[in-house]
Amino acid sequence: MVVIVKQTATKAQLDSFLQWVYEKGLKPHLSEGAGTTIIGLIGDTSKLDENLVRSMPIVEDVKRVSEPYKRTNRKLHPDDTLVSVGGAVIGEGHLTVIAGPCSVECEEQIVEVAKAVKAAGAAMLRGGAFKPRTSPYAFQGLRAEGIELLKKAREATGLPIVTEIMNIEHIPLFEDVDIIQVGARNMQNFELLKELGHLNKPVLLKRGLANTLEELLMSAEYIVAGGNPNVILCERGIRTYETATRNTLDLSAVPFLKSRSHLPVVVDPSHACGIAWMVPALAKAAVAVGADGLLIEVHNQPEKALSDGAQSLRPDEFARLMEQLRPLAELAGKKM
Ligand code: PEP
Ligand code: MN
Repeated sequence: MVVIVKQTATKAQLDSFLQWVYEKGLKPHLSEGAGTTIIGLIGDTSKLDENLVRSMPIVEDVKRVSEPYKRTNRKLHPDDTLVSVGGAVIGEGHLTVIAGPCSVECEEQIVEVAKAVKAAGAAMLRGGAFKPRTSPYAFQGLRAEGIELLKKAREATGLPIVTEIMNIEHIPLFEDVDIIQVGARNMQNFELLKELGHLNKPVLLKRGLANTLEELLMSAEYIVAGGNPNVILCERGIRTYETATRNTLDLSAVPFLKSRSHLPVVVDPSHACGIAWMVPALAKAAVAVGADGLLIEVHNQPEKALSDGAQSLRPDEFARLMEQLRPLAELAGKKM
């Protein structure tokens, strides 16, 4: 962290600031120019509140020169993290497609969709049992029963299962789930993240609707710092002023996150655009910018879906997309 000192600062003020820096366990490095004094704060500044430093009377401005995330930072862990689950792998060298309905609705639906996405080449099955809905009157998910049905679909297909957790108290219900999803709305549920950090199970962490990439990495940091290194980051579109699509897919998130962090990055084009016909174009673009995987909503009867039917691909549309993705994955040097 670099601090620029106000020209009006007195020697006494400067000395008391330097004393404060020492008390924080940091070493100040002073460089006095003709008109400007700059202080480099040497040491672990991750616990230091940048805004508190900025608010001090002698401080003109403050700049962080190292990221506040450490364990998720590529600088401290140059090799890519590979997440392995039930025979599937997410990370460098692979394009992992996770597909399935928004919500688990009944046994017939989830097993039929699971078989269809498996036949098309998906590596994992997604399906929501606990659903975060804007309206309390909308379908809330089959809850614990939904997880049981996902297990039946896994038994029928061998596909590992991915499903969303909304409440810290539900953790025991997820014991037999392969990947726990933390949805956009819970990206900053820090108590939940801390608890997931104590598990030995991969977590798919979605970017919040209005969160920066640094905030996403800080949320991932909670899980990794707790002792669980198996985190997968997911870009799923963010809120902007645009209303033509459900959200705005931030494709630049992929190269940014991959350069700053060693964690795998997947893209969810379904929630990003909210429109089924646009999903294939965004999925291909995500592969082109280096995504390690895709999370795609597929429903056997989208017009009857209890949630997100408008953005769900039919099984034949999904199979066509998978065929179009294969040459792109090959170009990117990735196994599908
Ligand atoms: C979902 O994956 O079904 C979901 C609710 O996604 P998000 O948290 O990205 O809105
Ligand atoms: Mn959905």
